Amino acid sequence: MKPGRHVILMGPQGAGKGTQAERLAPALGLVHLSTGAIFRGTIKSGTELGETLRGYLDRGELVPDGLTLDVVSAALSAIDSGVDLGGPTGALFDGFPRTPRQAAGLESTLATLGHEVAAVVTIDVPRDVLVARLSGRLTCPVCGAIYHVAFKAPLIPGICDLEGAYLEQRADDTPEAIRRRLDLYDEQTKPLERFYDERGLLRRVDGEATIDDVTTALVAAIPPDSRT
Ligand code: AMP
Repeated sequence: MKPGRHVILMGPQGAGKGTQAERLAPALGLVHLSTGAIFRGTIKSGTELGETLRGYLDRGELVPDGLTLDVVSAALSAIDSGVDLGGPTGALFDGFPRTPRQAAGLESTLATLGHEVAAVVTIDVPRDVLVARLSGRLTCPVCGAIYHVAFKAPLIPGICDLEGAYLEQRADDTPEAIRRRLDLYDEQTKPLERFYDERGLLRRVDGEATIDDVTTALVAAIPPDSRT
């Protein structure tokens, strides 16, 4: 991947973006940039900003665009300054952009840095499957690994295979918050598919296939010139 070329992974919550990004980012030499993970990390830091963010995340609401764009700009600048030191050349965005304003903000930030989006891939999964997946999702509080009680169970129930830590259910994976987040996706984020389609960047993969098959489809959907 040439410096300053980024990939956006799109799809509703529960489509498998996080799981797939964990696999794809190292394969493509990109930083896995999850705005949700950055926000959850800030909440754990116990700062005032963390408390503000906690309210949005627990309610299943979107964090305001200005705050989200600031976080992403800082992460992009960090990537930019690390490239000459042999660091990753770009980001694999997971959960960003989520609104038209975020997409426009990203476009102008990238233009300023002389960067570009190489591909946008949407993982398609029907809504009833998403609700089932999100309801059983468990996360390791130490390493962030994602499990599912039925579809991707840890070796010992409730314990992370890698860290031995007790797995947790995210506060926003309650039925009420799940419904709100999926509605928000349809209203605010799905229209971005058109935004990227008009730029000739959008690809789609079937997210109901096995985890391995989805990874294979995603790699195939990213144009070869952006994989070198
Ligand atoms: P995720 O881990 O991507 O499911 O994000 C978890 C939560 O973090 C979301 O429900 C939002 O509250 C917040 N969040 C993550 N990314 C964004 C974003 N790009 N814009 C606004 N809020 C976000």
